Amino acid sequence: MTFAQLGLAEPLVRALEAKGYTTPTPIQKQSIPILLQGGDLLGIAQTGTGKTAAFVLPSIQHLVNNEKRVLPTHCRMLVLAPTRELASQIAESARDYGKFSKMSVATVFGGTSINKNRQDMARGVDILVATPGRLLDLIEQRFVSLAMLEILVLDEADQMLDLGFIHALRKIVRMLPKQRQTLFFSATMPNAIRELANQFLNDPQTVKVAPTSSTAERVDQFVTFLNQGEKQALLTILLRDEKVERALVFTRTKHGADRVVKLLAANGVDSNAIHGNKSQPQRERALAEFKSGKAKVLVATDIAARGIDVSGVSHVFNFELPNVPEQYVHRIGRTARAGASGTAISFVADDERTYLRDIEKLTKVKPEMMQLPEGFTAEAARIKAARPAGSDTFERRDDSGRHRAPPKATHSARPTGDRAAGAGRPMGARPEGAGRPAGAGRPAGGGRPGGQGRPGGQGRPGGGRPGGAGGRSGAGGGGGRRSPAAG
Ligand code: AMP
Repeated sequence: MTFAQLGLAEPLVRALEAKGYTTPTPIQKQSIPILLQGGDLLGIAQTGTGKTAAFVLPSIQHLVNNEKRVLPTHCRMLVLAPTRELASQIAESARDYGKFSKMSVATVFGGTSINKNRQDMARGVDILVATPGRLLDLIEQRFVSLAMLEILVLDEADQMLDLGFIHALRKIVRMLPKQRQTLFFSATMPNAIRELANQFLNDPQTVKVAPTSSTAERVDQFVTFLNQGEKQALLTILLRDEKVERALVFTRTKHGADRVVKLLAANGVDSNAIHGNKSQPQRERALAEFKSGKAKVLVATDIAARGIDVSGVSHVFNFELPNVPEQYVHRIGRTARAGASGTAISFVADDERTYLRDIEKLTKVKPEMMQLPEGFTAEAARIKAARPAGSDTFERRDDSGRHRAPPKATHSARPTGDRAAGAGRPMGARPEGAGRPAGAGRPAGGGRPGGQGRPGGQGRPGGGRPGGAGGRSGAGGGGGRRSPAAG
């Protein structure tokens, strides 16, 4: 199946070829024919499935086929997205896909100059990508009008609801012409979203791809249990590994993200943070440096990371586990884009074990135990000793700046020095006889039966190989562990 066979016009196919896309993804295969017919669509799909192209391509074709002069301040297509990052990502895709179709595209979201938005909209645009709050401001000031709208897309509707945009959405939808095509995308379909979809859509067709767990299945998932205070040492060591080409590090809070950046800098690792307290230019610079490879590490909070679409993210590190299990799936989905595989490693302190259980319940995947790498104990001691006296950089704070009580030690009984072999395997290493390619030179005997969490963090083997994303193959080993690697 090709894009041309789906009914897309030559300029669109050419734009896709320029990006190296030859085969439609499942959501594209299902959605494009429906949308080309002009029908409404309810898409249950998450970021990473190719859904942006699925709604942008047929919409551009509609706009071109029904050529109309757009009036000042008006737009013909509106895409609403929950975050600035997602909005600018969608706009970038729309520009790429529409580059041979003469589409004008503008973005409107908070954190940018309202005057610039006003200028961008002055002559009207074909496609406007916006977050709801800023769009409403501009409408109220009469800098944007939706009276000519032909196509409305609501992207990541579940996230919009979570972020409290429901009233803004209803308000915006009331301003739209009744005669329009509406597309509604959401990764999950709880009742509240279904009701919203029923209100906004007119006799929609539903397409559903990639249930929540399937992204998770493409990612090699590891988990390691340690104290909050040891996480920095582990992250520092793992990031030094050459297999970590581009890493996203997740924290739960903005302060947490800033602190990780500082701690990494103190250990010679360049990184940037991206979160809600950063200005738009700071976010853009952080993303640009990450995309270009200037800084191979980006530290992010969940909200800020929504919509980050950077190919080549080899590793996702959950420095802290999310307390909402769906966020875990979104996080690890930043690697394994468009069918590729990737590695996700979660650092789990004692007080995060319930989060891990919730995640396992949702994904139906039990991440593999990762051994702590060689030299971990020494590195942790070195980092601890290098800290200025009295500083307490390892404790968590919430975003109000309050200290949280340090979690209880998870492995106070752990012998100093490295753990005895046989308890967990080093990241990327496969137990002997577990379908590993011959001659891969991995340490033997890493399998831990049952895929269970290491009790109390007992004993750590030496010889752990940090950063090992590659070479995992086959299933079965590790006594009942899942095999997250493809093949
Ligand atoms: P999305 O779900 O829209 O965020 O897309 C996920 C990623 O897949 C983006 O980097 C897209 O550019 C890419 N992509 C979309 N469609 C295709 C395709 N047919 N083949 C390869 N990559 C694609």
